[in-house]
Amino acid sequence: MENFIEDALKATKHSTPEQDEFYQAVKEVLSSLEPLLVSDSKYTKHNILERLIIPDRQIIFRVPWIDDAGKIRTNIGYRVQFNNAIGPYKGGLRFHPSVNLSIIKFLGFEQIFKNSLTGLAIGGGKGGSDFDPKGKSEGEIMRFCQSFMVELSKHIGETIDVPAGDIGVGGREIGYMFGMYKRLTNRYEGILTGKGINWGGSLARTEATGFGSVYFAENILNKQGETLKGKTCTISGSGNVAIYTIQKLYELGALPVTCSDSKGMIYDKNGIHLNSLKSIKEVARNDLREYLKVHPHATYIPRSEYKEGTNAVWSIPCFAAFPSATQNELNLEDIQILHANGCHLVNEGANMPSTLNAIAYMQKNGILFGPAKAANAGGVATSQLEMSQNASMQKWSFAEVDNKLRHIMKSIFELSYATSKEFGDEGNLMLGANIAGFRKVADAMIDQGAV
Ligand code: NAP
Repeated sequence: MENFIEDALKATKHSTPEQDEFYQAVKEVLSSLEPLLVSDSKYTKHNILERLIIPDRQIIFRVPWIDDAGKIRTNIGYRVQFNNAIGPYKGGLRFHPSVNLSIIKFLGFEQIFKNSLTGLAIGGGKGGSDFDPKGKSEGEIMRFCQSFMVELSKHIGETIDVPAGDIGVGGREIGYMFGMYKRLTNRYEGILTGKGINWGGSLARTEATGFGSVYFAENILNKQGETLKGKTCTISGSGNVAIYTIQKLYELGALPVTCSDSKGMIYDKNGIHLNSLKSIKEVARNDLREYLKVHPHATYIPRSEYKEGTNAVWSIPCFAAFPSATQNELNLEDIQILHANGCHLVNEGANMPSTLNAIAYMQKNGILFGPAKAANAGGVATSQLEMSQNASMQKWSFAEVDNKLRHIMKSIFELSYATSKEFGDEGNLMLGANIAGFRKVADAMIDQGAV
């Protein structure tokens, strides 16, 4: 069995050299699957691993756009349609200068299992561009989004592929892309999620990933007879996921004391002031350093002053840590510092924020761990609720959607926990989530034959 997994990893390395993030994501999933593959030979008989690591298709395209000076600029666009065994492709679009095929593939691969875990009928995909929205005017952002959709529109559809937001893609960008799709096709369809409330969006979609992440953490703690109430928490990031993680932490009585952006981090021992954070990052799209102007008692550490090889957010003592910015932002040294300071739980709001050796350290040292594909699945689950509302022409209240989200997060936790128990490692949620997510997709692939 070892060999089977090793062979699949070798094949990945060979066929996709230099796709480090993709390889890391594949390794994380495959390393968990041994007990399942041993218990039932059908997965190896049907060559599922070999088939699963190759996307159904990857679309790479040129995105030309005109800047405010009238100059033609060019970026690369991606949409990787990874696996649609259990439903139409679904997964976000990321606009960030670091985007490349490896990053889109790691995100798309993780998305397959995450979407499966939600219990909803959605397959896995991901896309984006190396376009950097920072420093661009409104007009430039709009023209870029429109040009991106000119090509993307050929590959998506309500029953084909329904993208959403991710880093650098929020309500504004979804709006510009939706507008262009409508113009190109003359169709008013739910081909994107994260839409505005007046034009097909769902209440609570904006909050869903952050809220869901905290619901998941609360489920983990409840199982231990604990809660988040009164606990100090640290959060990285200051975007969509981080902001609504902080909001829900307050609602459950916890004290969130940090947030960060690409330039530095804020530590506010009184608790991050939510309205200030929203007005700096969501409304003004400014640097976090601005926080000091309104809350001079807080501490700001610029990224240039982080101890080399570490993330300063994780140097602040906490009961629970919520990495909610980006991949590989919590490494071995970070987790050792967190552990020394008494951290009990790491709950991943971002995708693949912990390095593989940081995860291994958590598992060895009994630190509770909420893996990304389970902990942050609330966003995509609520996207699917948006699709359901679009298809049935209904509009549910905030409380109704939030309630469904809470139930989905509980059932993801219970499924992951029960699966970890079934395979002899009770409480190992990474193992449970990977096996449960994989099993449903793999069984569907077997039923559907060699396609
Ligand atoms: P976002 O609103 O664009 O915010 C991203 C945040 O992370 C910002 O504070 C940004 O700083 C920071 N950041 C981005 N790249 C960074 C880097 N390379 N180094 C340091 N900081 C960086 O994005 P988001 O939607 O919150 O997404 C955050 C994470 O959650 C991502 O891993 C994403 O894949 C994951 N996720 C998102 C959703 C969702 O529904 N949005 C669902 C599931 C998972 P600046 O402000 O300086 O750019």
